[in-house]
Amino acid sequence: MTADDVRAVHPRSRLVVLAGPTAVGKGTVAADVRARHPEVWISVSATTRPPRPGEEDGVHYWFVDDAEFDRMVAGDELLEWAVVHRAARYGTPRRPVEEALAAGRPAMLEIDLQGARQVRRTMPEALFVFLKPPSWDELVRRLVGRGTETAAERERRLTTAREELAAEAEFDVTIVNHEVHAAAEELVALMVLDQESFPSDPH
Ligand code: 5GP
Repeated sequence: MTADDVRAVHPRSRLVVLAGPTAVGKGTVAADVRARHPEVWISVSATTRPPRPGEEDGVHYWFVDDAEFDRMVAGDELLEWAVVHRAARYGTPRRPVEEALAAGRPAMLEIDLQGARQVRRTMPEALFVFLKPPSWDELVRRLVGRGTETAAERERRLTTAREELAAEAEFDVTIVNHEVHAAAEELVALMVLDQESFPSDPH
């Protein structure tokens, strides 16, 4: 489907929640949106996992320790949070999301399924998008290909991925990640973009 086709059949929303199985490429799709659509605000999550090479604090994640994460939870500073792959905690700082929406910016969260379910309860007006791999084999190939996890970690992620694939029906829209840029454009087509909500010439 082209972006125009997507616009024609799906509702658009100012807040889009992107979820999907592990290693489907959510982060890569989000990075493509970030690079090509600076008008879209993308949430930076807090996480207790250590940074991977090349990851920057405040850009890819806010890297925090357990005590700081506890403090954020206790202070109700997170819109949602979850333990992902039974390994680390990840959460969405609430205030930046509220500020982006209040400023009229289209906003996107790239989070796991447990987090998406929590946001569905607190912000049901958001549009929930499921990013799906072209096939199970392709998902396994991508997971193994990344090579950043241990075998045990990979097995844990595959187990999570199987469960997550089954959740597609809970989502408003599915995008198949055949190719990153096309998937990113489909995603952006689902957002209410600034120039459309605030036309420069309203007459
Ligand atoms: P990674 O450690 O590979 O960057 O991310 C692992 C998983 O955590 C991905 O599925 C990603 O979508 C998820 N994730 C990242 N940020 C958040 C967040 O703020 N909340 C939740 N619930 N999951 C997140």
